[in-house]
Amino acid sequence: LSTIGILGGGQLGRMIAMEAKRMGYRVVTLDPTPNSPCGQIADEQLTAPFTDVPAALRLAELSDVVVYEFEDVDDKVVEAIEGRAFVPQGSRLLFQTRHRLREKAALMRAGIPVARHIGVGSRADLTKADEEIGRPFIVKTTTGGYDGKGQWRVAASDDLDELWSSMQATIRDLPAAGNTEFDADAASAMSDDAPFVVEAEVPFEREVSVVVARSIRGETRAFPMAENIHRDHILQFSICPGRVDARVAKAAEALAVKAAQSLGVIGLLGVEMFLLPDGQLLVNELAPRPHNSGHYTQDACVTSQFEQLVRAVTGLPLGSTKLLSPVVMSNILGEHLDGVLESMASWPDTFKLHLYGKAESRPKRKMGHVNVLANSTEEALEQLTGVGVFGVCG
Ligand code: ATP
Ligand code: MG
Ligand code: MG
Repeated sequence: LSTIGILGGGQLGRMIAMEAKRMGYRVVTLDPTPNSPCGQIADEQLTAPFTDVPAALRLAELSDVVVYEFEDVDDKVVEAIEGRAFVPQGSRLLFQTRHRLREKAALMRAGIPVARHIGVGSRADLTKADEEIGRPFIVKTTTGGYDGKGQWRVAASDDLDELWSSMQATIRDLPAAGNTEFDADAASAMSDDAPFVVEAEVPFEREVSVVVARSIRGETRAFPMAENIHRDHILQFSICPGRVDARVAKAAEALAVKAAQSLGVIGLLGVEMFLLPDGQLLVNELAPRPHNSGHYTQDACVTSQFEQLVRAVTGLPLGSTKLLSPVVMSNILGEHLDGVLESMASWPDTFKLHLYGKAESRPKRKMGHVNVLANSTEEALEQLTGVGVFGVCG
């Protein structure tokens, strides 16, 4: 057995660390904040910014294998670590999935459908995108966004000059925009490096996702497709099995496997998709790591996505992805936390609580989640509605 280094100390790192430790591995983590969610679990924590190359090299030195738990890691840091430790996920996957335009280009090269879109780097590009894509459209920063941050929905009556001002203000404030320094004059819509992407608004029937694992032994396995319900652009519920035709679920799983294989993923790939009314699937975005919509696997599958990642990067055979029970995962956001703590003593006995140990609770911040196992997903949703904290669920 050996030591697993985790770049990033958030909840995903924490849950990787918990599974790795259960399996007998040592864990070292690097994060700017001491006692991060992952640092609390790790055997050793290094505290330094992610741009600190010497700290990253120290992580590499202490680890046999290094995994990252989020995308906004500097290429240089990952490349430096790659020189000293085994980084199975690799810097190439990071480079492609950290930037929405590069990611879409990679998917299209693999023959995987995505929403109509165009890169935008100037006010003129925005006008062109408006004409070519049509309204309503969604503008997204190409890097650094999550939970719907750095996004605008543009309706017929919206003013493009106003939109452009807030786009400019946002890009200046986005620390994670990182290696795409914003320069409105230099940036070109034709470039894969434009700071914004304009996407057609997809009239989806449902949102679904699949987490796929690919191991260094070349094995690939998908977890069962989940259906996702967002509130305010933040994932609130993942429902498995999703409420779609079994053929749609199989097609989503196959599409996710195709994405993982064509991108040469080692580790995990979370694949978010839109299901259109005609049954077609479009890929929305990818995550080269455990995915929030895969948290249901912790209590409802033979193998959790976190254990699967550890298996994939340490040369173990992948575990069974079999679903043992219908399940609904509900995120616990800052605004839910007090209600959760007050009500959990009276929860049904099939609610499985996971909290991330974050020092500070804020509205919209992901503080934990609960996996509800039941005889059916309808029953799980009814039970979740019953506790009151999460409003009407489903
Ligand atoms: P995440 O937290 O999943 O990383 P994110 O900030 O990267 O979120 P997206 O997943 O791209 O953002 O978008 C967030 C949500 O906004 C989607 O799950 C979907 O509900 C909605 N959305 C995004 N793009 C589109 C689109 N082109 N058409 C319709 N809805 C969209
Ligand atoms: Mg995202
Ligand atoms: Mg998303």
